[in-house]
Amino acid sequence: MNNITTVKLTKGNDYAIIAPGQIIYALNKSDKELEEAKLEIYENTKDYKTSKPIDRVLLGIIPTFDCNLKCIYCYSNGGDSKEVITMETVIKAMNHIRKTKKEAKVLDLCFLGGGEPLLNLDLIKEIVNYADLLFENVEIHVVTNGTFGTNVLSWLIDRKANIRISYDAVGQDFQRPFYNNNSSKRIVETNIKKLILNGISPTIQCTITSQTVNKMIEIINTLIKLEVKAVKIEPCVMTDVSRGTKSLQPNPITFANKLVEVIEYVANNDLPISINTNYFSKPSNGKYCGMGHGNFTVTPEGMITSCIEIAKKNDPYSDKLMIGKIGEKVEIFAENIEILNKLDYIHQNGGCSICQFRLICLGGCPMANIWENGLTSTKSKFTCAIEHTLLPTLLLKIVENEKIMNVIMENPEKIYNRDSVSNYVKVLKR
Ligand code: SF4
Ligand code: SF4
Repeated sequence: MNNITTVKLTKGNDYAIIAPGQIIYALNKSDKELEEAKLEIYENTKDYKTSKPIDRVLLGIIPTFDCNLKCIYCYSNGGDSKEVITMETVIKAMNHIRKTKKEAKVLDLCFLGGGEPLLNLDLIKEIVNYADLLFENVEIHVVTNGTFGTNVLSWLIDRKANIRISYDAVGQDFQRPFYNNNSSKRIVETNIKKLILNGISPTIQCTITSQTVNKMIEIINTLIKLEVKAVKIEPCVMTDVSRGTKSLQPNPITFANKLVEVIEYVANNDLPISINTNYFSKPSNGKYCGMGHGNFTVTPEGMITSCIEIAKKNDPYSDKLMIGKIGEKVEIFAENIEILNKLDYIHQNGGCSICQFRLICLGGCPMANIWENGLTSTKSKFTCAIEHTLLPTLLLKIVENEKIMNVIMENPEKIYNRDSVSNYVKVLKR
C-alpha cells in the first residue's frame, strides 16, 4: 500500500490516513480497525489519477525582465536588465502550441515575471489579439506587482483576467519600493480596491520575510480591510539569482507556527478570506507543480523555461532546466525534459519516499530543492522543516475545528483546481 500514509495525531488512537485525492480521519480506532480502514481506502483510491482537461493548454509568457519596482528579495533581479520579448517570438511559440495541441479549445495565457509583465500594454494586447485568432477561448492570467495605470486596469476588467497581485501589506514600504525608492503601497492598494469594485477578485501573494514573520495577523487585517478574498502566503526564499541576503529568509519553524496562528485567527473570527499555504497540497501521488510535466514559458531572450526562477540564459542550471528555444523555428530539448521527468521526489530514495507527509507535501517546490542540493532528488531542508511543523499541527486542528479546513484553499489561483481542503477531507466517526 505504497500510495497510503498514516499520520498518528497526537491524541489517543486518532489517525489521519492520507491517500491520493483524500484525507480520511480514523478516530479512536483499534489497530485492527485502522488496518481495515486502510485496506478499504487503498482499494477505493488505488486507481486514482490526476487528470488535466485535454481541451485546454497553457502558455506562459515573460514579456520583459524590466520592472518599475526594486523588491529587496526579487527572485530575478527585476529591472536590472530591460529585454522585451518580440512579437515574432510570441507568434512562433503560439503557432507551435496550436500545432501540437490540436484538440485544445481554451488557451490559458499567463503573463509572468520576473520583470513586471504589464509595463507595455500595447504589446500585451497584440499578444492577446493573436491568441484570439488561434483559439476559440483565451483566458488571461496575470501575476503583477499591481502598480499599473488606468488603461491597464480597464483592460484587465474588460478581459475578466485572473489576477494575482504581489503585495506585502505591512511589509510593502520596506520590501517592495519603486525602483527610485518611493512607496508603492498606495497605488497597489488603490488598484486592488478598484478591481474588487469592478467584480474582479485578485489573489494577493504575500511574501513573508524575517522582518514580517511576526506580523501575519496585521497583514491579514490589512487585506480584510481591502476586501481581499484569497491570499497566498509564502516565505521569502533566497536563491542564487535573488536580490538580497539570506538574512531575509524567515526561520522556517517560526514561519510555520505563525502560519497556523493566522489560519486559526481567520477561522475562529469567521473572516471572509481563504489562505493558500502552498505547503498543503491536495493529496496526490503526482508532482508538486508543472515543472516536470507541462510548463512552457517563453522568455524575452526566446528561451522556453520550465520554471520562472530560471528565466535568463546565463542563470545557473539554465542548460538543464530550459526545455527549448525559439530561433528560426521552435526547438525542444528532449534531454532536458527527461531530466525534469526524473525529478520525482516522493517516489525516490534520497528524497521523500518514506515520509508520512509525502502525499500532501509532494516533495515541495522542486526549484527550492535544486537551489539547496543541485539536480539530485534530495529535498530542501528549509521546505521540510516547514512541512514537519505545519502538517502535523494542521492535520490535528482540522479535525478539532472544522472551520479550519474551509480557510485553507488549494492554490486559489491554480488554473485547473480550486478545491478547499474541505472538499477532500472525510471523518470516520469514533
Ligand atoms: S519581485 Fe516582481 S515586482 Fe519585485 S522587483 Fe522582482 S520582478 Fe519586480
Ligand atoms: S520534503 Fe520533507 S516533509 Fe516533504 S515529503 Fe519530503 S521528507 Fe516529507
